[in-house]
Amino acid sequence: MTDQGKNGSGFGSCCEELKEVLEATDFDPLIAASDDGVLYMSIGMLDAEENEANVIDHLLFFCPFCGTKLQTREEVEAKSGGQDDAS
Ligand SMILES: [Zn+2]
Repeated sequence: MTDQGKNGSGFGSCCEELKEVLEATDFDPLIAASDDGVLYMSIGMLDAEENEANVIDHLLFFCPFCGTKLQTREEVEAKSGGQDDAS
């Protein structure tokens, strides 16, 4: 296990399931790390009447597969600059 952080975020080192999801290339994962290194999961979709899909994301604090604590709210706020800037 020396390839920790291979996907740039450091997530996926807790179990193979999360690692596979984050490194998936043959399907579109509903769990993904943002450029800020914050892990999100898609929890639902709004009705897309236009061409854009409206996916609702939610912060993910624990691995859904093995239950490992992946990040804290403080870490997320620090990584995202401490402000809720969705742009
Ligand atoms: Zn895990």
